[in-house]
Amino acid sequence: MTAYQPTPEFAASLDAQDPLRGFRDRFHIPAGPDGRPSIYLCGNSLGLMPKTARAAVEQEFHSWATLGVEGHFEDPSQWMHYHETLTEASARLVGAKPVEVVVMNNLTTNLHLLLVSFYRPTVTRYKVLMEGGAFPSDQYALESQVRLHGLAPDEAIVELVPRPGEHTLRTEDIEAKIQELGASLATVILGGVNYYTGQAFDMAAITRAGHAVGATVGFDLAHAAGNLELHLHDWDVDFACWCTYKYLNSGPGGTSGVYVHERFANRPDLPRLAGWWGHDPTDRFQMKKGFRPMPGAAGWQLSNAQIFPMAIHRAALALVEEAGGMAALRRKSEQLTGYLDYLLRRLELPAGTLEIITPAEPAARGGQLSVLVHRGGRALFDFLARQGIIADWREPNVIRLAPVPLYNSFADVQQTGAALEKWAAQAE
Ligand SMILES: *Cc1c(COP(=O)(O)O)cnc(C)c1O
Repeated sequence: MTAYQPTPEFAASLDAQDPLRGFRDRFHIPAGPDGRPSIYLCGNSLGLMPKTARAAVEQEFHSWATLGVEGHFEDPSQWMHYHETLTEASARLVGAKPVEVVVMNNLTTNLHLLLVSFYRPTVTRYKVLMEGGAFPSDQYALESQVRLHGLAPDEAIVELVPRPGEHTLRTEDIEAKIQELGASLATVILGGVNYYTGQAFDMAAITRAGHAVGATVGFDLAHAAGNLELHLHDWDVDFACWCTYKYLNSGPGGTSGVYVHERFANRPDLPRLAGWWGHDPTDRFQMKKGFRPMPGAAGWQLSNAQIFPMAIHRAALALVEEAGGMAALRRKSEQLTGYLDYLLRRLELPAGTLEIITPAEPAARGGQLSVLVHRGGRALFDFLARQGIIADWREPNVIRLAPVPLYNSFADVQQTGAALEKWAAQAE
């Protein structure tokens, strides 16, 4: 990688060499205030719409209209087996074996289903370790799970917080906390990438540390799936779930993925909430008493597949695969984010105006940079919006910028840098 330069020519040369440049045209890009395509840096919140999504849904409308209930069995839809068509690509996405993944429901629902099985507090081992300031849904999920077991959230939930003066967590501090909790620690549940700071955690090291004290270890991969290269199986992670509408471009409220390590594949004794779609398919339709789970993650399914969100997800996953999978996406992502990082750091601003709180090392972050704006944050966000740059605002004062490799260009990032320079000049 040559040294970065702030010019449009430099960005154009990177775009010309980018093997993924053609994928931008495969997405609908919302227009900015001047009618031209916006610079969309918000794929960490809602990924853009693949142009193939509409036809994918249209296909299922067609089957419904022409086949009715027979669409469950007949080509091309075969709704009975629809979710299975997502398994292989999902397994590659997160570095798992096909038996370890299933696509179903929504993220918070899946987090609950997994916690029912993997957070099994006892009188002595009942603590949960999570990030302080985790995404609110995760906080609420954990709080309610703890209460479900008759425990008090204040006593059972332990939150990791950065050292004074720091914004992100050090792996050594996470490991030390796990050791300190020792035999009282039931479960570790962290984001793969923290939604606020953009910090990517060392999931292998955290899993090792958790297992060493006898805890189960899971990750909410909402900001990691489609963003990082993941190796859940090799990292020995126990369980994980992710949403598909952020970096995976599968539409608002889209479906979710679940991972459960192979070692639990044939553990019908594991307590779980059950439904007919997780039941042994050989006699699912016999409508008999007595739940017998399917092997693997599929045994956590409750309901028959949500065809419409899954149709979009299938189309979106096909783009990831066509692009060469996460290794190819991550290569470009590191360059894009590195370029944005460079442009932000060269802004000439009065000391203390803004600060990048996302770690500087590429291995400790995904695509997103979180900028803590000490003064005039909301005004900067609005300024960017008027320039057609769609970022994301998090109270009280963080702007999240997430260039994504499938549809953002180096020119997008260069123009964002130029807009920030304009703002910096007027801010003085
Ligand atoms: C986006 C996100 C969610 C959203 O949950 P849904 O159930 O999909 O609404 C939850 N947790 C984290 C960490 C997220 O980033």
